[in-house]
Amino acid sequence: MKNKIFDTLTEKAIELGAHKASVISAGEISLDRAFRDMCASNAFGVYGKCYMCPPDVGDIDELMAEVANYDYALVYQTVSELEDSFDFEGMVEAKKRTYPLAQSMREIFKNCGIKKVLHLGAGGCGVCKSCAKQTGEPCRFPEKAMPSLEAYGFNVSALAKSAGMKYINGQNTVTYFGAVLFSLDGE
Ligand code: SF4
Repeated sequence: MKNKIFDTLTEKAIELGAHKASVISAGEISLDRAFRDMCASNAFGVYGKCYMCPPDVGDIDELMAEVANYDYALVYQTVSELEDSFDFEGMVEAKKRTYPLAQSMREIFKNCGIKKVLHLGAGGCGVCKSCAKQTGEPCRFPEKAMPSLEAYGFNVSALAKSAGMKYINGQNTVTYFGAVLFSLDGE
């Protein structure tokens, strides 16, 4: 039963556009607050500008502790072609294409009857063009808002290895990762 659910989750992720998807034990996840520092260094350009990014997303120690509440992680990646390694516009567009995929994962988990889930995406929430944080309004779509793997201190390179995926997928491509942490009822 459990393996059938895992197969369904990975198949659906690939149907939705993931290059690869795999379920791992949450115990294989490697966390380090140093990865959160990437956000603080404004590597993603949204530090302090989005409710789902540091510092607003929450204390790093509390978020890392939250990960221990889950048993499994569906890890998925997207791979997009770039014109060349300086194609920053292509990277931004490729990241934008990960947002609908990440949101669609919510429906997949609902359809599988999995209630205990934590959805984490690639570098920033991405639901609104400009986060309500920037105008001091409350979050517009709290049911859709999604933090990033980095905000929770994920070592994404190690995550890729645990999931049997390449972190980098060749010259002139960009790879993004998302993950859904979950537990199954009755385990
Ligand atoms: S849903 Fe919109 S307002 Fe809420 S955190 Fe995401 S980008 Fe900001």
